[in-house]
Amino acid sequence: MLKRTHNCGELRKENVGERVILNGWVDRRRDLGGIIFITLRDRYGLTQIVFNPGTDVYELAKNLGGEYVIGVEGMVRERPADATNPSMPTGEIEVLAEKLEVFSSSKVTPIYTNRDDETSEEMRLKYRYLDLRRPNMKENIIVRHRIAQIVRDYLNSLDFIEIETPILTKSTPEGARDFLVPSRLKKGKFYALPQSPQLFKQLLMIAGFDKYYQLARCFRDEDFRADRQPEFTQIDVEMSFVDRDEVLEVAEGLFVEIFKKVLGVTLKTPFRRYTYNDVMESYGSDKPDTRYGMKFVELNDIFEKTEFRAFREVIENSGVVKGFFVDEIYSRKEISNFENLAKSYGSKGLAWFRFSNGEVHSPILKFLKPLKIEELKRKFDIASDGTVFVVADDRKIVNTSLGAIRSELIKKKGKIQDSFDVFWVIDFPMFEWDEEENRFVAAHHPFTMPYLSDLERYKDGDLSKVRAQSYDLVINGYEILSGSIRIHKKEIQERVFDILKISKEEAKKKFGFLLEAFEYGAPPHGGFAVGFDRLVAIIRNVDSIRDVIAFPKTATGADIMTGAPSEVNKRQLDELGIEVKLKGDT
Ligand code: ASP
Repeated sequence: MLKRTHNCGELRKENVGERVILNGWVDRRRDLGGIIFITLRDRYGLTQIVFNPGTDVYELAKNLGGEYVIGVEGMVRERPADATNPSMPTGEIEVLAEKLEVFSSSKVTPIYTNRDDETSEEMRLKYRYLDLRRPNMKENIIVRHRIAQIVRDYLNSLDFIEIETPILTKSTPEGARDFLVPSRLKKGKFYALPQSPQLFKQLLMIAGFDKYYQLARCFRDEDFRADRQPEFTQIDVEMSFVDRDEVLEVAEGLFVEIFKKVLGVTLKTPFRRYTYNDVMESYGSDKPDTRYGMKFVELNDIFEKTEFRAFREVIENSGVVKGFFVDEIYSRKEISNFENLAKSYGSKGLAWFRFSNGEVHSPILKFLKPLKIEELKRKFDIASDGTVFVVADDRKIVNTSLGAIRSELIKKKGKIQDSFDVFWVIDFPMFEWDEEENRFVAAHHPFTMPYLSDLERYKDGDLSKVRAQSYDLVINGYEILSGSIRIHKKEIQERVFDILKISKEEAKKKFGFLLEAFEYGAPPHGGFAVGFDRLVAIIRNVDSIRDVIAFPKTATGADIMTGAPSEVNKRQLDELGIEVKLKGDT
């Protein structure tokens, strides 16, 4: 076998005159005036190989096709000045082939392997091993690896240790459905795949490991909205004897390190901090992209004495009028779609003001004195053409419906390139009312430490006002990290379960091991988990996390390449004591 002496990305002018052997894939073949040029590709790069006519190798090279895997031996020589390729790191040299060995041939590939043009995603997933040969995909996977190593280096340097936690385990509630694995040895029983290592990392703190991390695979059986994967990776971190700010500092350091080393971008620390309340009031979302502006402004003072009854009444009934400005003009049809969107969030309507060419248009203009319009302009600092959207209702409805419109407008505006909007959202509510279940559920997870002062204050009142010692990091409108200080006392944990209407028996059955562990010396602790796939996607500037996962699933959780999920044979089912009865079967 012609074994490589160099890879396809490393030969330079200094190597001219050396005899080398390269191995790789035929990226391109060009026959020019009797000379055959091959661009040979491997993970490291591309090198041009020349086959001169009249040689044995030339005859062999005639049969080479795209994606053949070959070994070539030859002499490195300088390319003539007019043939150098500055866009290729090896562009100043080429290898004059003397020996050629074909390791394997290739059929014509069903998708391009050497360009990043758009092929259907189905084909890309079916032939993922070819898709991964494409330059951008290859780079995504390599950068993913680099980020993983930066994470490890950084956390190791702070004395964290990496510990694996089980995949076959018991349900860990992160609010999703579990994937279940039937047990053969204990028929009729099931393991759950971890939604996160949450309980194990807390137990590792109780075990005394002090600082833990893991690049952990998590599994959540959700309906695949947007860009989710049934299995995904978290950078999972937990620390003992810390308060919130110390945890945030570690996380900030981690992000600073990654952005600096991978992108050369310096993130300014400390990151901005908003409370959950702040962001909901200002943007109607707990993960806004603030680069787009469109901050909500309260307008009660403008509308409280107008003739526009609908608004006036809302204010009289302790509601609120709020709006935001966007520097765009929309058609009536678009606005009517926005109105429908606002209504789907419970608002009764959507008012708007269009400012263009020095004129104002609005369906409610006739109710307002010109002075009010001037006030409105001042409130939003309007200096250009654009639109103000206004909703009047209960505070919550106003915030969520304006928030929905705002994110719709952001979608229309498109992505902002090359800048990063990074900030913390802290003090989320501890409990959220679940209409369907008619009980409170944990907004983060039930192991989050509530503000005990809030718990006391609202114990007989509105529990949705109790704040949690939790935090999210938002980057460019994505919740990229989430975490909290945890409960480390049995009584508090039981109190929270009680509020969540998790009975003593149920708590014991599900989390008895954790409650028991709290009785043997649990340190105060807290931590976080980073959505690793999304982080890589943001850094690589791709929209879909599928593009940064080597073998992802489709939106319906299928692996088109392997055919998973698939049926299993009767013997396997018998061994598990399982009979499959599909709904609708008789
Ligand atoms: N386990 C949590 C999650 O998966 C993160 C954390 O609280 O550390 O969202």
